[in-house]
Amino acid sequence: MGAEANEKSMIVFEQLELIPPILRALREEGYVNPTPIQAQAIPFVLDGRDLFGAAQTGTGKTAAFSLPILQILSEEQPEYNGREIRALILAPTRELAIQIGENIKAYSRYLNLRFAVIFGGVPQRPQVDAIRRGVDILVATPGRLQDLHQQGLVRLEYTEIVVLDEADRMLDMGFINDIKRIMALVPVQRQTLLFSATLPPEIKDLMGKFLKKPAHVEVSPVSTTVDKIAQSLYMVSRAEKRNLLYHVLSSDPFEQAIVFTRTKHGADKVARELSKRGIRAEALHGNKSQNNRQRTMGDFKAKRLKVLIATDIASRGIDVDDLSHVINYDLPDTPETYVHRIGRTGRAGASGKAISFSCEEDFDTLRDIQKHLKKNIPLFTDHPFHLDEKELIIKAQTSEKPIVNKRGDSSQRPKPNHDRNSQFTRPPKPKKKGRTPDGRFKTKKAGKPRT
Ligand code: AMP
Repeated sequence: MGAEANEKSMIVFEQLELIPPILRALREEGYVNPTPIQAQAIPFVLDGRDLFGAAQTGTGKTAAFSLPILQILSEEQPEYNGREIRALILAPTRELAIQIGENIKAYSRYLNLRFAVIFGGVPQRPQVDAIRRGVDILVATPGRLQDLHQQGLVRLEYTEIVVLDEADRMLDMGFINDIKRIMALVPVQRQTLLFSATLPPEIKDLMGKFLKKPAHVEVSPVSTTVDKIAQSLYMVSRAEKRNLLYHVLSSDPFEQAIVFTRTKHGADKVARELSKRGIRAEALHGNKSQNNRQRTMGDFKAKRLKVLIATDIASRGIDVDDLSHVINYDLPDTPETYVHRIGRTGRAGASGKAISFSCEEDFDTLRDIQKHLKKNIPLFTDHPFHLDEKELIIKAQTSEKPIVNKRGDSSQRPKPNHDRNSQFTRPPKPKKKGRTPDGRFKTKKAGKPRT
């Protein structure tokens, strides 16, 4: 973040020329200073500019686009009669869509604007009824929006502003064609805002297609955020992970923790196991009913629930302040996801702890993450389940169980396969001998990890 952005983050909301009803709502929310993305983005959006925002969850990006949209819509009344959808906000998941809706509800409480949130997996009737009653702002996941549009239940011809939130995640989830189809339904004359935590070529492509001379704003480069978080690495065998998790949660005092697992099935298992041992935990993932997910999220937000076990997709949009611990029970597939996960702690300057378990499956993944971070995650060995590099290598080589492909689906676990070239049973690559399993360089003398 540059000096200018730092300076901007010290300003107060009154300096951003927001109208009194919005300022009043913000005061009631307890917001005093805009976050850097808000300070930078709000003036551009109020000016009618297209915008690209490089920002991840936790930076205050929702208010960065919602506040100026609310202001534009309430100041510029349309000439036609009745209510039409004037702002469309697309989000990858229902959790994020609901979260955005909650924020809009809070910020617009003194405005005469209506909004609705639509997402799949639940009956469409109440959503359709809300749209029929007339909304100015529609928050939607791409699938359900297209569904309703095809049934002739949503009109987008009057849309003035479109937001593509977490665009990179929408692409990861396979929504690219949906986005293109939806963008063909909104008027060419419009204002478009695109937010993305990362900037892969596909996002640049989308920007080129859909944004006109966009202003660029960027905040909290990933490394800055990550540096504030106390990260540690625990080496453990796969079989002992559940015992290690219990050990960590019962020996280290914590406020609230999110534990990430790779699969939905894994999330359920971990939640059951912890609850049985006296630490109440709930799993949050896409196989749970919408009611169940909302109840779990509500309990977690209200701090009635201390431990949430989540998969990456389900965790999008979880908006909890003061999260003291993020635990990577399973390492994520990509370094970006690692950064995104641990960014859930240490929000708004609070310090947090990010603990990652690394087992005999994780040689390559860990190496990729550390390469991306440009540093090693400090190794923590003072726990009863620590295995050193040699022990882990032996585990990998003698593993009875198949090592599941990271991108594989646990419900279709492959049969044990001892073919050396199989992607499922993979002893550590001999070429990487110069490194320990956690990706550190060995010193010649001791062969011990450098810390
Ligand atoms: P977001 O990145 O939009 O998910 O926001 C992260 C969290 O920060 C949410 O809990 C917001 O309510 C909160 N937040 C956003 N802007 C501000 C602000 N200017 N001051 C205090 N909290 C904020």
